[in-house]
Amino acid sequence: MRSVIADAKRLVVKVGSSLVTNDGRGLDDVAIARWAEQIAALRKGGDGRPGKEVVLVSSGAIAEGMQRLGWSRRPRELPELQAAAAVGQMGLAQVYETRFAEHGIRTAQILLTHGDLADRERYLNARSTLLTLLDLGVVPIINENDTVVTDEIKFGDNDTLGALVANLIEGDALIILTDQAGLYTADPRKNPAAELVKEAVAGDEALEAMAGGAGTSIGRGGMLTKILAAKRSAKSGAHTVIASGREPNVLARLAAGEAVGTQLLARTARLTARKQWLADHLQVRGRVVIDAGASKKLTEEGKSLLPIGVVSVEGNFARGEVIACVDEAGHEIARGLSNYSSSEARLIRRRASSEIESILGFVHAAELIHRDNLVLL
Ligand code: GLU
Repeated sequence: MRSVIADAKRLVVKVGSSLVTNDGRGLDDVAIARWAEQIAALRKGGDGRPGKEVVLVSSGAIAEGMQRLGWSRRPRELPELQAAAAVGQMGLAQVYETRFAEHGIRTAQILLTHGDLADRERYLNARSTLLTLLDLGVVPIINENDTVVTDEIKFGDNDTLGALVANLIEGDALIILTDQAGLYTADPRKNPAAELVKEAVAGDEALEAMAGGAGTSIGRGGMLTKILAAKRSAKSGAHTVIASGREPNVLARLAAGEAVGTQLLARTARLTARKQWLADHLQVRGRVVIDAGASKKLTEEGKSLLPIGVVSVEGNFARGEVIACVDEAGHEIARGLSNYSSSEARLIRRRASSEIESILGFVHAAELIHRDNLVLL
């Protein structure tokens, strides 16, 4: 069996607190240096393999914050945990920045909440920022924004965040690194017959029973959140690998095709899946009438919709909402996420993309609807 990571071009790697801290007491600089080294190697490629784009999702802020504040015991109260996370996040960013810089790689800090990705406008903003960072060759380092939400503190839910990021950037795969070898058919501590599941289909209900059966239920960072994260990643066509971060050189071995841990396959191809996922979110908020040239570009040439091809704009919509594209005879051709609100779209319709800045004073994108966010009907 070959690891799906071998052919993946864009990856989300999630490392849990236990893999970047000294038993929860401050950051483990040596461990982080090794992650940076492994990720630098992934980006470089080698042995005839092209480099991969990597987004890292990392916790560890609370542990570092406790250390910096001189707290020896993890507080119970959420506001104190949040305060520790805020203090510790400075350290987390510092250590990653230093360690990646040793490989000539720039990093960027992104603090996100699930709500950010549910909101259409913020979704598009986060997406364009992340894709731009990847284009620039930067490694984005994401953590939950613990100041405003506490899902990760309560549920160890950076697993879910990792999946949402995989959806957001159309990742080929999500690698969840943990301190367990992967998913077992039963709790290996209680049942000697428990076996490691090497491969399964993400979203298979039997998996949830296995993960729940391991006594983890919705514990912090339990196996169940990982199984559910795999199910979510699969919705946009991303495979998930759950593996032990204690395996030496785990990322390089996965990239070389070695099947380490549990791999949960996404059944639908990535692009089809993304379109389906977009289609699930379709609630049309407005319409643009487009000219014959633009409809040809969309339907025959697989291009994006530019403002110049827009004849008129109907309805009130915000940036990030779904709009329909209709031709001048009134036939609906496509739907997609608008990069501009209806009032902005009215101002830039029939104008060249190079004029957007002088008209609006800013540019979100050259396209009104980017091809990746467009579904043809
Ligand atoms: N996001 C938090 C962190 O980075 C949560 C981890 C935890 O609950 O320990 O530290």
